[in-house]
Amino acid sequence: MRPFDYQRAERLEHASQLAADSETLPLAGGTNLIDLMKLQVETPQTLVDIGRLSMGEIAEEGEGLRIGALATNTATAAHPRVRADYPVLARAILAGATQQLRNKATTGGNLCQRTRCYYFTNIDQPCNKREPGSGCGAIDGVARLHGILGTSPQCIATYPGDMAVAMAALDATVEITGESGERSVPVRDFHRLPGDTPEKDNVLEPGEIITAVTLPAPVSGKHIYRKVRERSSYAFALCSVAAIVDMAEGRITRADLAFGGLAHKPWHDPRIAELLVDSEPSLALFDKAADLLLEGAQGYGENDFKIPLTRRTLTAVLCDATGVEA
Ligand SMILES: Cc1cc2nc3c(=O)[nH]c(=O)nc-3n(C[C@H](O)[C@H](O)[C@H](O)COP(=O)(O)OP(=O)(O)OC[C@H]3O[C@@H](n4cnc5c(N)ncnc54)[C@H](O)[C@@H]3O)c2cc1C
Ligand code: SF4
Repeated sequence: MRPFDYQRAERLEHASQLAADSETLPLAGGTNLIDLMKLQVETPQTLVDIGRLSMGEIAEEGEGLRIGALATNTATAAHPRVRADYPVLARAILAGATQQLRNKATTGGNLCQRTRCYYFTNIDQPCNKREPGSGCGAIDGVARLHGILGTSPQCIATYPGDMAVAMAALDATVEITGESGERSVPVRDFHRLPGDTPEKDNVLEPGEIITAVTLPAPVSGKHIYRKVRERSSYAFALCSVAAIVDMAEGRITRADLAFGGLAHKPWHDPRIAELLVDSEPSLALFDKAADLLLEGAQGYGENDFKIPLTRRTLTAVLCDATGVEA
């Protein structure tokens, strides 16, 4: 690990001011950032510790819920309103990492966690995300965890988190504060596709700090989070589906779906709800939904299996949600 300065922010404005320097990074739970610093993947000159700021509260916000950026994953998953009204979120969080990590991991840090691409975390390897212009080791390399949707010739990495996939299905909003004021961004638009600038994971500008995530008023329906991974715990998603699906009189009335493990961001395709809502559920319909989702999907050799895996996982989730026999 390279030597660095440590500053503790006492006020949010102070944290934004310090973090506006491109050599400074905010530190929350540290479970991702410190690991990457040990590997010299992240080499900030200064860490600004935001852990003492009062951003840990989970509170009612109208009919919805505001989850502070410093609320731990454990506190969020255990919160009675989350368990009762947003179970897909509790299930997604509990499908991630381990109890010890979730005790430290925060809402803001979880949203900003970096990719698990093996080339990104190995400084001896080429990686356009870590070192723009150096190439992408994963294309034509070891790409089992990598993306099949929205990839670019510069980067095929996936966003590895679970929590944000459920938040995308719930259409939650990220609240952000920076030197130029406050703004809100839908979780669905918070992470970026890699394009020609894979070094930028999300839409945060220098100095911007996530202060909270707001969940809209709860909606009726069955909540499902299904995560397919190499082993049943302590592993990142090969493919995950967060779903809130409701039915009335034999027809689907709601189908809010988001997908993890497939792209540089939690994947949300509004065409899937348009297809499913007002239709009678059937295997043929689910197959059409998978066709839409996977339109333009591209494998990179080692991860070709994700295309049929995603089709099967989506079908299984929709069967579970609607009672159709697989
Ligand atoms: C072994 C292991 C297994 C894991 N498995 C999973 C898994 O299965 N699923 C999953 O979802 N996650 C998994 N994780 C990742 C874990 O969830 C993240 O490390 C954690 O959520 C990061 O939160 P943190 O508060 O510790 O962030 P930190 O490490 O403190 O920060 C992470 C990044 O976010 C930035 N940041 C932090 N807070 C803010 C803020 N408020 N505003 C702006 N930027 C901010 C930091 O500057 C840094 O770049 C795993 C981690 C480990 C080590
Ligand atoms: S996939 Fe992205 S993160 Fe991985 S080596 Fe290529 S550029 Fe780097």
